[in-house]
Amino acid sequence: MPGTGGRSREALGWAAWLAALAALTAAMAAIRGALDKAHVALAYLLLVLAAGARGPRTRGFAVALLAFLCFNAVFIPPYGSLAVHDPRDWLVLFTFLAVAGVAAHLLSRVQREAAEARRRAGEVARLSAEAGRARALADADRLKDALIASVSHDLRTPLTTIKALAHDLAEGGDERAVTIEEEADRLNRFVADLLDLSRLNAGELRVAPEIVAAEDLVGAALQRVSGSAAGREIRVELHPGEPLLLARMDFVQSLRVLVNLLENAHKYAPPGTPLDLVVAAEGDRLAFSVADRGPGVPEDERERIFHPFYRRPGAAPDVGGAGLGLSISRRLAEAQGGTLSVEPRPGGGSVFVFTLPAADLNDPPTLST
Ligand code: ADP
Repeated sequence: MPGTGGRSREALGWAAWLAALAALTAAMAAIRGALDKAHVALAYLLLVLAAGARGPRTRGFAVALLAFLCFNAVFIPPYGSLAVHDPRDWLVLFTFLAVAGVAAHLLSRVQREAAEARRRAGEVARLSAEAGRARALADADRLKDALIASVSHDLRTPLTTIKALAHDLAEGGDERAVTIEEEADRLNRFVADLLDLSRLNAGELRVAPEIVAAEDLVGAALQRVSGSAAGREIRVELHPGEPLLLARMDFVQSLRVLVNLLENAHKYAPPGTPLDLVVAAEGDRLAFSVADRGPGVPEDERERIFHPFYRRPGAAPDVGGAGLGLSISRRLAEAQGGTLSVEPRPGGGSVFVFTLPAADLNDPPTLST
């Protein structure tokens, strides 16, 4: 047991210093006639210094006190008692006690400060190692972003060529060229998403907020998905009785977010089930909710689906993309002072809620129509 080991080491320490004091006293007593009081005082002082430098503070003080008693009893007449005949000897004795006490105190303070300095040096070494690791991680992250940005950039030119050639061949009636063109389109979208993600990460994608009417955004989004979600009913509810609903937004980027939500809802909800798009004022925000009757998102994945490259386990490989859409959309929402989250829908399915700061016509920048 470490406690027992520590205690027995301490007891040994005490015994060793008491033995040293006894030995020193005996040795000096044997040659008492040849010694001056100053010799005795200096020899005891050396012992007190040695004890104070090695052990705990109490040991330094205890050795000083015991040395004082031995000094008095063995070397100050009358010998063998603590009485003192010559009053000047009191001066010698108390000067000795004071010097020994102060020395023991100073030594123990030096020891404490040295221990504290060692602890701090250890702490500094630990912190600098941690800072080094954090720097290395940040560097790796920056390198990854730079790599993604440069690779996606370099992929764009050959993709454009492939698409143009495939388009020509398809015009000539080659069926396989149609597939090549579609796949090149898919890759192009993926590369564009990658580029946007790295720009958002680097804070390089700028948004230009202006005041826009909610119905303009909704109208543009419905028009945009009319091809991809053809045949799916989308019911729109712009809260009745409300005055014109306005939000401060970057129109192009908000359109991307809303279109992404509608396309996802169309992808993941069973065919034939309608989608609901509801716009409502909620305090100082405007909320665009896209509700579907799809599989819903389990609670433990409601944050994770907004992480880049996250696709739900079991998500069909031919449905959706690389898991970038929602992460880009959330960052775009946040870049405009908005939010994007998902909630379960009563009765089954999910509701994706995209909020933006509400605005009114008296706000500074001009109304875009
Ligand atoms: P992708 O659709 O390309 O996989 P997203 O970032 O758009 O990437 O979506 C991430 C994941 O979130 C999807 O793989 C899917 O599992 C889940 N998800 C997105 N929208 C819905 C939805 N409307 N209903 C159920 N799950 C969804």
